[in-house]
Amino acid sequence: MKLLRDFLHLFFPKTCTTCNTQLLESEKIICTLCRHDLPIICYKSYKDNKITRVFYGRIPIEKAISFLFYRKEGKTKKIIHALKYKGQQNIGALIGNWFGHVLKESKEFDHIDCIVPVPLHPKKQRKRGYNQLTTFGLSLSKQLQKPYLENILMRSSTSKTQTFKERFERFSKTSTKFNVPNTSTIQNKHILLIDDVITTGATLEACSKELLTIENVKISIVTIAYTE
Ligand SMILES: [Zn+2]
Repeated sequence: MKLLRDFLHLFFPKTCTTCNTQLLESEKIICTLCRHDLPIICYKSYKDNKITRVFYGRIPIEKAISFLFYRKEGKTKKIIHALKYKGQQNIGALIGNWFGHVLKESKEFDHIDCIVPVPLHPKKQRKRGYNQLTTFGLSLSKQLQKPYLENILMRSSTSKTQTFKERFERFSKTSTKFNVPNTSTIQNKHILLIDDVITTGATLEACSKELLTIENVKISIVTIAYTE
């Protein structure tokens, strides 16, 4: 097998997702140099930091943390791009295992009950063929030993009869609506809501608002990246 792998490697060399140099046989997805050079976020507090402050005055959040800073033309952008648009779902698993291990060691999320992803619009998911959060979420789930529940949040489909206000809202950025079809599953639960990148926090806010209408629900947030 190894011989075959080396042979294939010779003709189809695998390259690093972030710098495009050829990977060594022992390296996977991201080369060693890039791994050491990733802009990893090291906030001391998970309760009060720049990310939790994004949601101040908007929604109550227990804790929030992201793995990487997202910068223009940076390595994180390449990682997210490959995960979302190039079908490289193994990146989600790599980051999920790596970050999941860090979170497990921190013991900060020992008390969460389940992990819930921000849902993609069904049309988008059909086109892409996958939700970019699945491999990330499943790897976090494995590390934190908490269930990954993919069908808790749904994007509301746009109804045919819309009021003027709704039609207007479709064109503003905060128009996305979410719903929870089966509320009893998450009553009294502390939910770890996950997404790829936090920018304005609008999507996570909309999801949280919906989840917080359910009895005794608490929300914490984890994302792959955060735009400062
Ligand atoms: Zn590299």
